[in-house]
Amino acid sequence: MRDEDKSKEELIQDLFEARAQVLELRILENEHKKAQNVLQNAKTELELHAREIALLSEMGELLQTCLTLDESYTVIDHTLQQLFNEESGALCVLDHEQNLVDTMVAWGEDSTGEKVFAPEDCWALRRGQLYSVGDASNGIICKHVGPPTAISYICVPMIAQGETLGILHIRSNPWGASDLSDQPIRTAESKWQLALTVSEHISLALANLKLRESLRSQAIRDPLTGLFNRRYMEESLERELRRAQRKGVPLGIIMMDIDHFKRFNDNFGHAAGDYLLRELGIFLKTLVRGEDIASRYGGEEFIVVFPETSLEETMQRAEHIRRDVKTLKLGEQFPKTEGVTLSLGVAVFPQHGSNYEQLLKSVDTALYQAKNDGRDRVAVAKGG
Ligand code: GH3
Ligand code: MG
Ligand code: MG
Repeated sequence: MRDEDKSKEELIQDLFEARAQVLELRILENEHKKAQNVLQNAKTELELHAREIALLSEMGELLQTCLTLDESYTVIDHTLQQLFNEESGALCVLDHEQNLVDTMVAWGEDSTGEKVFAPEDCWALRRGQLYSVGDASNGIICKHVGPPTAISYICVPMIAQGETLGILHIRSNPWGASDLSDQPIRTAESKWQLALTVSEHISLALANLKLRESLRSQAIRDPLTGLFNRRYMEESLERELRRAQRKGVPLGIIMMDIDHFKRFNDNFGHAAGDYLLRELGIFLKTLVRGEDIASRYGGEEFIVVFPETSLEETMQRAEHIRRDVKTLKLGEQFPKTEGVTLSLGVAVFPQHGSNYEQLLKSVDTALYQAKNDGRDRVAVAKGG
C-alpha cells in the first residue's frame, strides 16, 4: 500500500515502529560500544600483565647474577619504579640483629615517613602478614608511615625460609578514588596481588644473597674480630704487591702484637682477653681506609696492608695506632682493664723487600725489635 492510501492512524503506527527501530539500533550500538570497551580493557589488562611478567622475570634473572645485596637494591629499585609507577613506596630491610628496619630503596614522589624505624612500628612486621589501609586519614596506621594523610597503603612482609627480611611498602592516593578513574583496569586487589608476587620474588633473592654474603664473609673474615683472616690478607698482599710493582708505587705494611697479652689473660680471664681482641678489631677497622687491608694474622697479632703508602706515612699511621690504642676502654664489663699497649713493626715495599716473603720477614723482624727495645713502640725495618 502506498503512503498516500494509508489512513492517518496507519501512518502514526508506521512512525512509532520506525522510532522503535531507531531506539533498538541505538541500544545495539551502545551495547556494541560497551562490548568494545570491555574487550579493550581486557586487552590492556593482558598487555599490563605481560609487561609485569616480563619485568618480574627480568628482575629475577638480574638478581640471580648479583654478587652483593647493594647490587640487588639497584635492580629492585629499577623494577619497582616501573611496576608501580603510579605509586610511591619503599623496600625496608631488617638489620642483622633484627632490631632496626632500614630503607634500602625508595621511589615515587611521596616519600614521607621514617627512613629507619623499629620493627614494632609496622603492623605487617608485628603480625607477620600483609597490612593494608584504604584511607590513612581515618585508619590505624603504622608509625613508620608518618602523619595521617589521605593515602592508601600496604605493607607486605618479606619472609623467606622462615626468616623475616623486611617489608615492601606501597602507597598511593586512596584506592577507588579519582586516581583510578583513568585506569579502571587496576583494582586495589590487583595491586595487592602484584605487590605480594613481587615481594615473594624479592624475598627469595635477598635470602639467597644474604646466605652467599655470609658464606663469603665466613671464608675471608676472622669470626672473633671481624677483621680479614690471614689467608685473605696473604692473597691480597700478593695481589697488591703485583699492582704496586706495575704502577711503580710504594706499599706499607704494619705488623702489631699486644704487649703482655698472656698476663692480661691471666689477670682478667680469657673472656676479657677475647673482648679486648674484638674491641681492637673494631678500633683498627675505624682507623683504616677502604682500600687498606686490616687482618688478624694469628692469636694477638695483626697485620695492616696500606696500598700506595710511603714509609713516612706508614710510620705516622703506626704511631697513630700506638697512641690511640691506649684510649681503648673495655667498658663496665671489665672495669679494671686499662693500659693495653701495642708493639708495632713497619716495613715498606720496595725498600724492605721486593716480594711477599721478604716483606713479611722484614716487618716481623721490626716487630721483634720493638719488643726488644721495651714494647709500646714502633720500629722500622732495617735496610733498603
Ligand atoms: P709479648 O709482649 O712478648 O707479646 O707477650 P705476650 O704475653 O703478649 O705474648 P705470648 O706469646 O707469651 O702470649 C700470647 C697470648 O695470647 C697467649 C694466648 O693465650 C693469648 N691468646 C692467643 N689467642 C687468643 C684468643 O683468641 N683469645 C684470648 N683470650 N687469648 C689469646
Ligand atoms: Mg703479645
Ligand atoms: Mg704474639
